[in-house]
Amino acid sequence: METKVYALTGNPEEDREAISLAGQVIRSGQLAAIPTETVYGLAGDALNPGSASRIYEAKGRPSDNPLIVHIAEIQALEKIARDISPKALELARRFWPGPLTMIFPKKDVVPLETTGGLDTVAVRMPAHEAALGVIRAAGGYVAAPSANRSGRPSCTTAEHVLEDLNGKIGLILDGGPVGIGLESTIVDLTGRLPCLLRPGFISLKQLEEVLGEVETDPAVKGQLAPEQRPKAPGMKYRHYAPRGRLTVVSGTPEAVAGLVNRLTEEALSRGENPAVLASSETAGLYRCKNVLEVGSRARESEIAHSLFAMLRRADELEADPIFAEEFDTPQLGGAVMNRLMKAAGFHRIKASE
Ligand code: AMP
Ligand code: MG
Repeated sequence: METKVYALTGNPEEDREAISLAGQVIRSGQLAAIPTETVYGLAGDALNPGSASRIYEAKGRPSDNPLIVHIAEIQALEKIARDISPKALELARRFWPGPLTMIFPKKDVVPLETTGGLDTVAVRMPAHEAALGVIRAAGGYVAAPSANRSGRPSCTTAEHVLEDLNGKIGLILDGGPVGIGLESTIVDLTGRLPCLLRPGFISLKQLEEVLGEVETDPAVKGQLAPEQRPKAPGMKYRHYAPRGRLTVVSGTPEAVAGLVNRLTEEALSRGENPAVLASSETAGLYRCKNVLEVGSRARESEIAHSLFAMLRRADELEADPIFAEEFDTPQLGGAVMNRLMKAAGFHRIKASE
């Protein structure tokens, strides 16, 4: 299959046409990659079981990993979800359109293929004009997981999507680099207490302001016992991973640089090609030639925005091993470290003074 790329140019007429074309592709049961404010999504008709199967196939994703359904208006929620509480509606009014996914018991119109066999459905409304346009043009309900091959870092540009899915999907809508760069926060509203399944741009504190007490799924912190199942099935897979072995190194900046300099020099002497993921404040402390600057600690959104791109950059450099600083900044640090620790298979070492 040929993958056609349509760039959104800002010309209203051309953009309308590209958006309507993406909508038609999805209505016909095929797939289109679309920009959202978080990461690029691989969009199919959420109410068509065949589309869900195509998504799993294109991503190489296990079919027990459910898809998030994207809608373009709050009223659309009623058709697909049950037990929508007043607090859920308040969350929707406060954070939609935006990077928040809520989980509800599902109605029968949502095929089990879309929900990975679960009787619940994950829903969000993206804050991206083109994405909303595509959802409307596609009939109002679009399943759109991140548009990467399963296990790889999510795509924050159309070029990343092409890297992973060229020849596997009909169309890519190129809206340029995305704004946030991390996937949505996911909160499960089907239990006695609301439960955070995936941290994101909307923080736990923001959720608690509306919901009161919110639990955190142990899988978020990698604290799941082997016999336990994570509530978000996707959390059990290795994820976001570059091809090289990634290790997170914690400690003071000087101690981290000291240890990483020793480890990268040892790797070089073994003929390997090491790389370091560092903040712009500390990048100068490393002697390794492949230092990938993820952004400034003073501007957290910069780090969130470029994390996945830098993990992909490490692959382009064929880097292995890769060492990353901790980016445990106050607002987005939880979400960033969740992705980074998963990418590292939870492998972290401590640099002592
Ligand atoms: P992605 O769309 O690739 O960002 O991944 C979607 C995430 O949402 C995965 O981790 C899924 O396991 C999770 N998810 C989607 N639907 C549900 C659901 N009904 N219950 C729990 N987790 C869900
Ligand atoms: Mg994903």
